[in-house]
Amino acid sequence: MVFGIFTNMKLSTKLIHAGIEPDPTTGAIMTPIYQTSTYVQSAPGQHKGYEYARSQNPTRQVLESAMAHIENGKYGLCFGSGVAATDAVLRLLNPGDEVIAANDMYGGTYRLFTKVFERAGIKFHFVNMQDTANVKPYINTRTKLIWAETPTNPLMNIVDIAALADLARAHKVLLCVDNTFASPYLQNPLDMGADIVLHSATKYLGGHSDVIHGCLVMNDTALRDQLYFIQKSCGAVPGPQDCFLVLRGLKTLHVRMDRHCSNGEKIAHFLRSHPKVGKVYWCGFQDHPGYAVAKKQMRGFGGMMSFTLKDDSLDTAIRLLSSTKVFALAESLGGVESLINHPASMTHASIPREERIKNGLSDSLIRLSVGIEDVDDLIDDLRQAIG
Ligand SMILES: *Cc1c(COP(=O)(O)O)cnc(C)c1O
Repeated sequence: MVFGIFTNMKLSTKLIHAGIEPDPTTGAIMTPIYQTSTYVQSAPGQHKGYEYARSQNPTRQVLESAMAHIENGKYGLCFGSGVAATDAVLRLLNPGDEVIAANDMYGGTYRLFTKVFERAGIKFHFVNMQDTANVKPYINTRTKLIWAETPTNPLMNIVDIAALADLARAHKVLLCVDNTFASPYLQNPLDMGADIVLHSATKYLGGHSDVIHGCLVMNDTALRDQLYFIQKSCGAVPGPQDCFLVLRGLKTLHVRMDRHCSNGEKIAHFLRSHPKVGKVYWCGFQDHPGYAVAKKQMRGFGGMMSFTLKDDSLDTAIRLLSSTKVFALAESLGGVESLINHPASMTHASIPREERIKNGLSDSLIRLSVGIEDVDDLIDDLRQAIG
């Protein structure tokens, strides 16, 4: 539960201090890694609030509190990965319940929904959420959850969180927003009425491509209690060392994000002006269909973008993907180093081809996670690779 003087401070201060108390025994300014599975009791049932580390771990609790502060929520819960956090939310549902999800989202989320939870009797409707009006026809008495991601991965579509939250509230449906792409530095979905915000902390929060981690933040106490019950009963908890790495990553999120945004903007404009580049998907362009909503709900446009080449062949795209020298060809995003990725064969390979093409994700689409290197070197690298 969030408490203390940091609740009313600015995000940059919260990122460094919120939730973090000097270690009570030594004064250590950095949160210790409590590498323990259990805690000694003085008599049966008499303990210091810690019984077993799947249920309580002090390093994890500090991170959970920090995450709650940073997303302007009351409670945080951390998991062993982003998909484990997604899994926990879906476990709130019962067979027969229905979920409305975006038709353009992280491939692993789609796989979890269609290959694991559909088998458990949950029904999913995948809809284009760029227009909130498309969602309403799918709401019925069995609808329990709306699942949104914005900006979307990899097409950088924008969903209006406040409009979706109004719709969800009117029908007593939970709204969960995957805020991985924007990070809490650029967007805070709970402030716009979402019930749960999800992060793959593997990405911008950790920020250094050295940890797999996920978290949820929420305001409602009953919802927190249900999700805490799932966290400890299903056991997808992160280790304390991983929590430490995410805590360390958080402290520089604001300075990293500023650079991701400014490098991203320059690269988006470079790509758009390149004669061999086809379409550039970046939500900071004024003619992007979601620009007005992005301006309203985000404080910057981030470092993620996708593009196609005018020569829209798979071979040309593969040649480009194999010839960058600074951009590393790899899945994932949000780290200090720039990455280049081929969604159709890498991050989104688990989505059937017809489904992908129908939603605008072509075979030749290339996705960039723009890092925080010198932008001139990044542009030179793309220029030589495009050829
Ligand atoms: C990576 C990612 C996830 C899954 O997170 P993991 O930490 O890899 O399990 C979920 N949503 C988005 C948008 C992602 O990019």
